[in-house]
Formats: sequence, C-alpha cells, structure tokens
Amino acid sequence: MVVGLHRNAQVKVDLGAIKHNISAELKRMGKEQELFAVVKANAYGHGIIPVAKAAKEAGATGFCVALIDEGIALRQANLAGTILILGVTPAKDAVLMAENELSTAVGDLEFLQTSAPLLAQAGKKLKVHLALDTGMGRIGFCKQATLKQALDFLAKHPKEFEFEGIFTHFATADAKDESHYQKQLAKFNELMAVVSHKPRYVHVANSAAAMWHDDCGGNVIRYGITMYGLNPSGDELTLPTTIKPALSFESELVFVKQLVPGDTVGYGKTYTTKTTEWVGTVPVGYADGWLRRMQGYHVLIAGELCEIIGRVCMDQFMVRLPRKLPLGTKVTLIGQDGTKQVTAQMAAQYAKTINYEIVCNLSERLPRYYE
Ligand code: PLP
Repeated sequence: MVVGLHRNAQVKVDLGAIKHNISAELKRMGKEQELFAVVKANAYGHGIIPVAKAAKEAGATGFCVALIDEGIALRQANLAGTILILGVTPAKDAVLMAENELSTAVGDLEFLQTSAPLLAQAGKKLKVHLALDTGMGRIGFCKQATLKQALDFLAKHPKEFEFEGIFTHFATADAKDESHYQKQLAKFNELMAVVSHKPRYVHVANSAAAMWHDDCGGNVIRYGITMYGLNPSGDELTLPTTIKPALSFESELVFVKQLVPGDTVGYGKTYTTKTTEWVGTVPVGYADGWLRRMQGYHVLIAGELCEIIGRVCMDQFMVRLPRKLPLGTKVTLIGQDGTKQVTAQMAAQYAKTINYEIVCNLSERLPRYYE
C-alpha cells in the first residue's frame, strides 16, 4: 500500500488518549487480571505499531491480533509479551508461529493433529489457546466430548504444544438484553468442567463484557474498541468509565466554486442545486474508507456543519458551503473543531453500521500522525 504522505488528508491519533483509556480499565480490573490490547486490523485503523507501543507503556501485558503477519509485525517491532492470534490459523504455519512466539487460537482437533508432526520435526513448541464456541457460532469447541479429545491430545504432546489458554467470545455483551450473554456464560462453565488442569490464561471478556459484565471472570481482558475511546454498544448502553476518542480524521478544501440553480453534482447527478450555492471539494473518497453512502452526512468545515452533496467518489467528495471559503480551510470528518464534534459513532449511525467499521475502514493510504 502506498501511503499518501503528500496529500491534504490525514488521520491523527492521540496516543495519550489510548493510554488514558487503558489506565481507566486497569483501575477497574481485578488484581489477578491482565489486559491484552486488541491491535488487529491495523489497531482498528489507528496504526498497529505505535498503538501497541503506547498500550505496552500504559500497562498492557499482551496483544491480540487476527493474522500471523500482524503478530510477526509486532515481534519485528521488538514488542515482548504474549501475542495471541484470535482466529483460525493455517496448521501448515505452526512452525512459523512457534518461531515467532505467537500463541494461536485452536478450534478443532484437526489443527493439532496436522501441526503436531510439523512441530516435532522442527523441534518447536506452539502455544495454543483453545477456543470454545458458547453461542457466537464462529469458531471453537462446542461439546465436552470434542474438547476432551483436544485436551487429551495436548496432554500427549507436551513437546509440540503448550496449553497456554482457553477462551470464549460473547456475541451480545454490548446489549441491554442479557439473556444470550447468560446462556453463553453457563455454556462456558459447562465446557470448562472437563478442563482438569487450567491453563495460565482463561479469558472471556472483550470491551463490552469488561464494561457491563463484571461477573464474567477470567484473568485476561481482551481490550479492543474501548481502548480506542469508542463505546462498544454504539449508544445503546452508557459506559461506566470516562474514555477519550483517540482518532481524528481531517482534510481541507482543495477546490471551491459557485454553482447556479439547476447545476448537478457528482456521479449519477444525485444532487441538484436549488439556489446559487458555494460548493467545496474535499480530497477524500471511498478508497480512503469514507463510504460512498455518506452523501447527506455533515462534516465540520471551519467549525460549521456542512452537508456532503452528491455521491462520494473514489478519492474526492463535495460539500455545500455556507459561503465562499478559502482553499485550505480545515475539514473535520471525525473529531472536534471549535465547539462542535463529529464522531465515528455519528458517521456509523448515518451509514447504518458500527463505529468499529468506520475506523477499521480508514485505508492505509491515509497517513497517520501521532500526538
Ligand atoms: N476478542 C475477540 C475474540 C474478538 O474477535 C474481538 C474483536 O473482534 C475482541 C476480543 C475485541 O473486541 P472489542 O473491540 O469489542 O473489545
């Protein structure tokens, strides 16, 4: 990916906010609990290495990623501590993971059976976290019998595997209705009944469980969205702690013109001017992760809310200005300008998605600057 260092658009990340959000959670956690910073997907668009370093300084003892390559990138940046890959990994890459001291989620016996001879041949030991599917329906063991087979296999292969952890993931920890959460917790306890020797890490909590389900237990919090200063529930539930959004997204006006009534704007001419209007062009588009359907949403320009008119193009979008504004006037897509704020949550609500998707989508071609 080519990073646009010479463009009028950038993502700014306040690492102080990341540290604040971690400290806030560390104060709420039990003494026996550790915080693993979830930095997959380029740290939810914030930049994996700077965020991981800040998280470590703030007290995170481990990291969660989705890909082997994300884990290797952390190791290459000299980040120590547990690095757990949360998703299914290819068994053929078991040796690579072991060499890089990466721990991997394992959701079936087949992974263990396929990787054991490879690890034996290479003389390497892989750290595994058994994934339990308690009601997410994604990956993991969902029956005591199959879990028991995996536990027996691990016990018989102490040279190839270290049984480092066991975990589950909640599907509705961010919802007002707790019934499914309670079902998952009960299922987790039922499955755990066959685990006679508990591994070092037993973990269930994502941000939402950590925020609203103090009873969920476990000795690791997999802390993702709240570390970035965003509410996991959108705005359904109020957070029990004060967090600061870490990311802002800014650009500027690169073209300003006056249109006359009846002129049209953008692909498909989905906007027609009713009066004489000042229109500005912002050099950001859906290739940067600013979704095509943001037509009609408002961004801040010189501290005032201005409507996006016409469809968002691949690299540019147009806005209706309150008056003629100079080229170079600041445009805030996410963040604060003066007394007004436009948040990732507001963009998500408009785009009918979640704040996670808005920030994760911010493409790597946008340069990131750290404060
Ligand atoms: N744990 C698992 C298994 C996940 O898949 C995720 C995120 O997708 C997280 C933890 C972090 O979740 P959150 O960002 O809601 O804290």
